[in-house]
Amino acid sequence: MESEINLPCPTCKSEGSLKLLSMSSEIPYFGEHTQITLSCDKCGMRQTDFIPSEERGALSFTLSIEKDEHLQARIVRGSSGTVRIPELDLEVSPGTQSTGYVSNVEGVVNRFIDIIRMMMRQIRTDIEGGENDDEQNLEKLFQLEMALTALAKGELLGDLSLEILDPKGHSIIGHDDAIKRALSVEEIALLDPGPAPIIMSSEDVK
Ligand SMILES: [Zn+2]
Repeated sequence: MESEINLPCPTCKSEGSLKLLSMSSEIPYFGEHTQITLSCDKCGMRQTDFIPSEERGALSFTLSIEKDEHLQARIVRGSSGTVRIPELDLEVSPGTQSTGYVSNVEGVVNRFIDIIRMMMRQIRTDIEGGENDDEQNLEKLFQLEMALTALAKGELLGDLSLEILDPKGHSIIGHDDAIKRALSVEEIALLDPGPAPIIMSSEDVK
């Protein structure tokens, strides 16, 4: 179902350019939910979130990646989800432009690899431009890239885990071996809540 929204775009502030696409479906372990995508015709802003039909509260899921099949475990990451690989001290927090996605563990590891490669390119450009000589940082990123590439290929099983923490409960790791628990008030306070909800009431949707 597509509807127009009577609000300015949160990114470019244009009026009358926002569209809301909503679709209900079912994902194993995640259950019945509505996938909402907000997009702007003017600036190309796109934001997806997954709203479960039942409130679940603040949750975290942890999966120790020990077998090949764990790499295929389904991930739903809502726009408020923080993703971590704690053993490598890696974290992607939502930020204000965060968008949700459905993937699997391998896909999420590949997203980490993409970010690390982007950082390495930036450091190399800076070094060439004489802006810094961050060789040490580059070496550290290279080690991380190697570890994650091995993990994605199933060559590094049993050492690393994937964790997803979501104060809104819109994210899951869908596997029987994933450990699910409620987040404490202290943990929630330390998490980035992600983008502010744009849809305040049904009156905002024409
Ligand atoms: Zn816009």
